[in-house]
Amino acid sequence: MRERFQDTGESVYSFMGETLVVCPECSGCAISRQTAETDPPGWFSPRRLTCRRCSFVKDWAKREIARGWYRVCDDYFELPLWLQTPCRGEALWAYNDHHLSFLENLVGARLRERVRHEKYGWSNGSLTSRLPLWIKAGKNRADVLKGLSRLRRRLQVSNREDPLQMSGNIVNTRPSGTKPR
Ligand SMILES: [Zn+2]
Repeated sequence: MRERFQDTGESVYSFMGETLVVCPECSGCAISRQTAETDPPGWFSPRRLTCRRCSFVKDWAKREIARGWYRVCDDYFELPLWLQTPCRGEALWAYNDHHLSFLENLVGARLRERVRHEKYGWSNGSLTSRLPLWIKAGKNRADVLKGLSRLRRRLQVSNREDPLQMSGNIVNTRPSGTKPR
């Protein structure tokens, strides 16, 4: 267990550049990814869905998103997030590996401290302050950690299905026959 977690004020938007979702064609792990480089990711940046198993591809370029607060789906293709699991009667979920690591570090740490983010300063837009209380509550820690390890196993299984991901290079994962942006 890590002894110390530093909250650098990372916002949920910083995890949205790449979202793992369930493929509508084969139920494998697909990636919804921005096709333009912006930092932080823009809400309305065009996105492309690419399945890592069956190579299904779909583009998104609308001017509105479906914000389903009570559904564990991505905001663009409205597909279920790949990394989600029931936990304490709630849904525990993560957009991607980076987001999952953030949650593992946060929940696993004995000591949480908040430091000023060099870019965003003090802000209650930080993911830590926005996290539901049930995730942060000490009494739920063991269950939440178990849930996070279920998500980690699910991520590992999906990574094994994808030879490109195995090489640690998911940024260039594209179905053959499509042009790089
Ligand atoms: Zn697929």
